[in-house]
Amino acid sequence: MFSDYLKSNFDWDTTTRDILAMTSADVEQALSRERLTDRDFMALISPAAAPYIETMAQRSRQITERRFGKTISIFIPLYITNSCTNSCVYCGFNRHNKIPRVILTPEQIEAECKAIKEMGPFENLLIVTGENPLMAGTQYIEKALQVCRPYFSNLTIEVMPLSTEDYARLTHSGLNGVICFQETYNRDRYKIYHPAGMKSKFEWRCDGFDRMGMAGVHKIGMGVLIGLEDWRTDVTMMARHLTYLRKRYWKTRYSVNFPRMRPSESGFQPNVVMTDRELAQLTFAFRIFDPDVDISYSTREEHSFRNNMATLGVTTMSAGSKTDPGGYATYPESLEQFAVSDSADPRVVAADLRALGREPVWKDWDRVFD
Ligand code: SF4
Repeated sequence: MFSDYLKSNFDWDTTTRDILAMTSADVEQALSRERLTDRDFMALISPAAAPYIETMAQRSRQITERRFGKTISIFIPLYITNSCTNSCVYCGFNRHNKIPRVILTPEQIEAECKAIKEMGPFENLLIVTGENPLMAGTQYIEKALQVCRPYFSNLTIEVMPLSTEDYARLTHSGLNGVICFQETYNRDRYKIYHPAGMKSKFEWRCDGFDRMGMAGVHKIGMGVLIGLEDWRTDVTMMARHLTYLRKRYWKTRYSVNFPRMRPSESGFQPNVVMTDRELAQLTFAFRIFDPDVDISYSTREEHSFRNNMATLGVTTMSAGSKTDPGGYATYPESLEQFAVSDSADPRVVAADLRALGREPVWKDWDRVFD
């Protein structure tokens, strides 16, 4: 399992030091290679690579167009519950926050699906829950998949880490993909941000990706939350994790996200801030490191920044997102998990992409492949 592999092979502080010690010679060597090592990746995200950002952007654009064409896949999230037994210090759904808790019924979930279909020709749906295994566990998620399945071609979940058996069970109810954010790979400090509940167990979360792979999940999405720990070290650990997964679960497709922390009811202030330029550098570095990985930008990012990045490496975007359960039709005024930055209508998002020479792809999967 990856948590053992991580412990045996990589040290947080050494990795941080190695990244900061990278020189322009290391960056140039990384840019001269066809296949990059994790050390090359570290060079490209290091401060030493900042002057090379234009070169990296062009390389990222070429690789992306060669592998994905000029397309951007569009998806929309559907939050079906904000009930949560965890206490992540940065999240508005933290169990200590005195907010109304909602667990949508199957009828309400169906109403949300219909409302989403009126917003645009969405076929890729991301179903999101808090973590409440008793009140909204595997059975509830399975029911939600069954309700959503007639409306969408592709169903992904972002829920609590599950057992291998439960992931396998859900693939029979229409599950195509699973997204899970490790949040941070800093094992020593992980518990500061996740003090209680199942999410406080670093190994259980980290090894969830192995369980997804073993269950044959078609697509796995990874991410670290930018704002907790040194982002360069965290994304290096994630790149290593991705390499590890690719070797073992080679039939699976992968995506990566770099969510920057947004304001939430928690009031938590980020420990580190990543600038737009740094996020762009990271995006280019990841594309050069892994030509096949989907790189996803959510509506956490500003509309204009998403447009700027749409031609340079990003391959997937959300649009029209609400981060509150029932936010599309049932409870439009309920409390959101975090504030979105890009609230543009999905049709505006699509029109802007077309104006940039990108084809917005609403459907890239068919149920017949399940
Ligand atoms: S981040 Fe997820 S698990 Fe943590 S409190 Fe929020 S909803 Fe719950």
